[in-house]
Amino acid sequence: MQYKEYKDGIKLSRLGMGAMRLPVLNQDEAQIDYDQAKALIDQCMKGGVNYYDTAFIYHEGKSEEFLGRALAGYPRDTFYVADKFNYQANPDYRAQFQEQRKRLQMERIDFYLLHGIQDHFADDITGSGCIEYFDQMKQEGKIRYLGFSFHGSADVLSRILDMYPWDFVQIQLNYYDWYYGDAKELYEILTQAGIPVVVMEPVHGGMLADLTEKAAEELKGEASQASWAMRWVMGLENVQVVLSGMSENMQVKDNLETFSQNQPLTEEEHNKIEKAAEIQYSTVAVACTGCRYCCPDCPQGLDIPFLLNVYNEAKIGDAWRLNKLNGLPEDKKPSACQDCGTCSGHCPQGFDIPGYMKEMQKIMKEL
Ligand code: SF4
Ligand code: SF4
Repeated sequence: MQYKEYKDGIKLSRLGMGAMRLPVLNQDEAQIDYDQAKALIDQCMKGGVNYYDTAFIYHEGKSEEFLGRALAGYPRDTFYVADKFNYQANPDYRAQFQEQRKRLQMERIDFYLLHGIQDHFADDITGSGCIEYFDQMKQEGKIRYLGFSFHGSADVLSRILDMYPWDFVQIQLNYYDWYYGDAKELYEILTQAGIPVVVMEPVHGGMLADLTEKAAEELKGEASQASWAMRWVMGLENVQVVLSGMSENMQVKDNLETFSQNQPLTEEEHNKIEKAAEIQYSTVAVACTGCRYCCPDCPQGLDIPFLLNVYNEAKIGDAWRLNKLNGLPEDKKPSACQDCGTCSGHCPQGFDIPGYMKEMQKIMKEL
């Protein structure tokens, strides 16, 4: 495992385990398959991963408890836990923080973040008093390092950076968002401010590990598509930890292999990646990461990422693929969408989800 110096003599593994896509039972997010998921944690620990990332809302509140239990058998100084305050789930930061330590069964949270700040609630969360409170927790040793994860604009990022001497910031960073999103701009702001970057979504929710056929042609060979994406992100000087929401042992194995050595991309490989991104961009309609932040508050209980995935398949050229949705109950089809827009408000990518639902209905009618 490759490690990188952080602060205070701490060395963090360059690969971090994200506990948000763990194996589950009965396709129920809230029922983590303990044995299978614990095996993944053991595999990571054995492979030298020492950074474990969770959040109040992951797996409908079950991720923290799982992680605390899975790590309990290891000496406390052999791993670091990152956890996040979710303002939308419960703005009472005191209560949430205490609850989190209870779920984790840990006195101290090593890396603590304000979760997924977006422009539309940035002022609410930063003005809530939580920063002052978490700073106090830091002084008391209950938090070691304080940061935030971010899904907003460059202006808002700069504004938040001025509010507090943050220890680190977590952003969505991968080659696709670098070329076709705002990842480069955000990364450069943080680098200029001297703030280490923790990377989330290095394979864009799985999209860069499963490229369209044409884009995949550019990266063909023995190495996995995911490893190309990981090596690309590792090559950025100011990247401290790269999080991967691992859900199966082959994925852990592949990541451990990738992160076991420092293999910077050659110029030729960089060019191939840029080309793959270009092809992917031209074929994918909605680059949904599958994070599911949009799902819990949908009044119709629509499986939005699933619907968008089918929409993408249809947009790549085969409109008939939307026929797949005919098998869904009426109240789970795109036509059940009430156009309330709640989902878009939660989407870190800012997608016009009701717009896509309408377009799907239209195409389905024409089929
Ligand atoms: S706009 Fe449609 S998909 Fe989005 S939350 Fe409302 S009902 Fe659900
Ligand atoms: S639509 Fe947005 S919020 Fe929903 S799963 Fe996709 S990226 Fe996440």
